[in-house]
Amino acid sequence: MNYDVIIVGGGGMGSSAAVHLAQSPNGARVAVIERDPTYIDAQTWRANTGGIRRTHSLPENIALSQYSIEYYRDFAAHTEVDGIGTDAEFVPGGYVMTASPAGIANLAVNFELQTTMGVDVRWLEPSQAASQFPMLRQDHIGAAVHSPADGWANPQRVLEGLRRKAVALGVDYLVDEAMVFERAGRRISSVTLASGRTLRAPTIVLAAGPWSGLVAKKAGVTIPVGPLLRHDFDFEVDAPSAPQPFIRDWARIAFRPEGRGYRGGAQTTATSRSFDFAADPNFFETMMRPALTDSLHGFEGVRQVGAVTGLFDFNALDQNAIIGPCSGTLDNLYLLTGFSGHGFMHAPGAGRAIAELIIHGEFRTIDLTRLGWQRVVDGKPYLDRKAG
Ligand SMILES: Cc1cc2nc3c(=O)[nH]c(=O)nc-3n(C[C@H](O)[C@H](O)[C@H](O)COP(=O)(O)OP(=O)(O)OC[C@H]3O[C@@H](n4cnc5c(N)ncnc54)[C@H](O)[C@@H]3O)c2cc1C
Repeated sequence: MNYDVIIVGGGGMGSSAAVHLAQSPNGARVAVIERDPTYIDAQTWRANTGGIRRTHSLPENIALSQYSIEYYRDFAAHTEVDGIGTDAEFVPGGYVMTASPAGIANLAVNFELQTTMGVDVRWLEPSQAASQFPMLRQDHIGAAVHSPADGWANPQRVLEGLRRKAVALGVDYLVDEAMVFERAGRRISSVTLASGRTLRAPTIVLAAGPWSGLVAKKAGVTIPVGPLLRHDFDFEVDAPSAPQPFIRDWARIAFRPEGRGYRGGAQTTATSRSFDFAADPNFFETMMRPALTDSLHGFEGVRQVGAVTGLFDFNALDQNAIIGPCSGTLDNLYLLTGFSGHGFMHAPGAGRAIAELIIHGEFRTIDLTRLGWQRVVDGKPYLDRKAG
């Protein structure tokens, strides 16, 4: 069967790319190969914090989040089929990013960039931060930035909505697994599926999340993307949570209110790099509890009430996405992976960007050239400026 574009992986990223491709004026014929339509292991299904923030340090990541926030706000319109759209359940609860005393200079540079790019961000000295958000410990932070219009949404609803819209636009979702990539020089000539079916298209998009490195290897390309185990918890204290922003503390705790308690995790790269979803039974006690009690007020009696694990599509080079063709290596393989924990907030913009590249041969809205394949070839990381 021949298509214009074959997308390997039908999670949030692959489905966003499919929608944006199918919405192009000439309506590309798109096949999405997704081996598990329950999505039980997909990151998009497990990313239950659903955080969306514009408080990044790279202009590309800020711009991607800008687009996502607009897109998720109007998600029902974007995903409308037969008069019914999907609600992304976007909550504009805001974000607070804190910096350590040593990280103030970096936070300030990031703040300037965000301001220049039109993000509503407010600088808070430690005393201001602590009085506005009493759980923040004044003696623990050097400064903070509040972005009141950022927030969170529901990744499962988003995936459902994108997929439903893509199908309505004529995209074929094939329940199958991409197994063999036949090559002709620097191009993939066909993709053979576990069912034995063979598909052909001039362009292949790799959006297989944490499995992207494995799939790329099948096509003969090494990419620095693999799984990184992430734990997210639901947790409570005796007092119910009040409405408050998503707090991302420099010492790596990141959480938001959920129900009567909270939901979130501790950012660390010291977890398993395998495809095993088994939770570390000690993680809450050894990582979460100390991170919460050391960094914040009011968590002395914190208790875990739920947990989920999931695998990030972790880019070991620089923890940023790789978007675009593997030019010079495998010219018609387009990467859409390596988001390293930011793929929910970047899916709408990244899907649009890959569609632009495929349809027009260039980025039309956000220039993501610096997130391309060339930096992988050159071994030159494009790093975030951290305020930790
Ligand atoms: C616990 C957790 C919390 C997170 N929190 C946030 C957050 O707050 N904010 C944020 O922006 N991001 C967050 N993320 C990251 C975000 O979920 C992902 O970056 C995003 O969902 C992008 O997903 P994806 O479509 O690339 O990958 P996935 O959703 O994993 O989809 C990849 C798909 O590829 C399929 N596949 C793999 N190999 C093959 C093959 N050979 N053939 C066919 N199909 C294949 C898989 O079945 C899977 O469905 C979180 C992730 C986790 C795990």
